[in-house]
Amino acid sequence: MRAPVLAANWKMNVGAREAAAFMRTFLARYEPHPDRTIVIFPPALSLCAVVDALRARPDVLVGVQNIYWEASGAFTGENSAPLARDAGARLVLVGHSERRHVFGEADCDVARKCAAAAAASLTPVLCVGETMEDRERGATDDIVREQLRAGVQDLTHLQMATMVVAYEPVWAIGTGHTARPEDAAAVHATIRTALRERLGSDAAQIPILYGGSVNEGNAAALLDMGEVDGLLVGGASLDAERWARIALT
Ligand code: PEP
Repeated sequence: MRAPVLAANWKMNVGAREAAAFMRTFLARYEPHPDRTIVIFPPALSLCAVVDALRARPDVLVGVQNIYWEASGAFTGENSAPLARDAGARLVLVGHSERRHVFGEADCDVARKCAAAAAASLTPVLCVGETMEDRERGATDDIVREQLRAGVQDLTHLQMATMVVAYEPVWAIGTGHTARPEDAAAVHATIRTALRERLGSDAAQIPILYGGSVNEGNAAALLDMGEVDGLLVGGASLDAERWARIALT
């Protein structure tokens, strides 16, 4: 059994002062639960406020939403994996659909970022998912398998065995159209099979999260599917009380 991972992606919301207030409210409602892992992905400028708020709560982890693949140098405006790790991040989102579709990130960029993260001991959370057009032409499994293959191509066996995968159908992100639990479970099973082809029995330890319009009303049904090891939550994680209810699902 993999312990559920409940992750909040704040996207470009929640400034440093608001983040401190959010964490006070959230931590007052969420006691440590040894049977699950909670992760917050704040914007980079709010990372330190969240890390500070968690000094006495090592049960809640912090991640960054993006990194650049170089470790340091003349890359104005970017943040590297070692910088993120040094600031207290333990995980990083890679290949999120907004990075792919708004910022034009290709699979080769995703692969470089996964490798840079792993080299700096930052756990990559590799996001994969199909568009509605892909789904309607029956290409979901092919798209997801290819994004996964391409994203992990520069990882060692051990680095890959300690990563996290998030299945996030593009049509479900921020739209209010959540995947039906059985549809999500079917794609998770495809991802697990692809992981097993690469890693054998070590694939069993990789958490596969579902993301896409998750809220406190649909979280339990998704988590009830044996294939769904956790949730990546955007909009519904922006309110501390709602997020605490989801974290306690
Ligand atoms: C996300 O940003 O990863 C996400 C799943 O967003 P939302 O929950 O708002 O659909």
